[in-house]
Amino acid sequence: MKVEAFAGGGFAENGYLVICPDSGGVAAVDPGAASQRMVERIRAEDWTLEQIYLTHAHLDHVEGLHRVHALDPDVPIWLHPADRPLFDGLAQQAGAFGMSFSPQPEPTHAFEHGQDVSFGGCTFAVRFAPGHAPGHVILVAEEHGLALVGDVVFQGSIGRTDLPGGDLQTLMSSIREQVLTLPDETRLYTGHGPATTVGRERATNPFLVGHFGGELA
Ligand SMILES: [Zn+2]
Ligand SMILES: [Zn+2]
Repeated sequence: MKVEAFAGGGFAENGYLVICPDSGGVAAVDPGAASQRMVERIRAEDWTLEQIYLTHAHLDHVEGLHRVHALDPDVPIWLHPADRPLFDGLAQQAGAFGMSFSPQPEPTHAFEHGQDVSFGGCTFAVRFAPGHAPGHVILVAEEHGLALVGDVVFQGSIGRTDLPGGDLQTLMSSIREQVLTLPDETRLYTGHGPATTVGRERATNPFLVGHFGGELA
């Protein structure tokens, strides 16, 4: 399993292509402002787009969905149902951030905590991790030592909880129960900024030590 990041836009959002090497099957995760480069990469490598996964429905993570989806309109689009109201409110999100907004194809499949989702012979385990957004999920490939964590946790920081549906205590529980339970060497691909590891964040993330609640981890 190979992960490539595509950052772009005013929020420097990271979209990802996850490539299953044996089959050339690809999953696109959170296609944002840089989605055209994701499309070009898939075409250049002659990969097959098999699934589109949305960790959550904030505009910067879905604004490029239509471009990736145009590669193959039959490709499933996955979102947790608890983020469907955010998805349906993309126009309001755009208004709140003063961003332009393209109509997007609708999610076709609903993530559930604990399920496995597959593309090209590779598998992610879905973990429900609300707090930054009410229907946020993370995608874990434990045997490959990696997880895509969206805006739950970043290198040295955590997701903001002041947007509609956000809640700090819920986010801290999600981080403790769904992220810090992974092995230290697990590589975390985040929604903004550089990748990190569970061990690094456990030891050095200022939000995960001391009175913020990381002591239980
Ligand atoms: Zn977000
Ligand atoms: Zn984000």
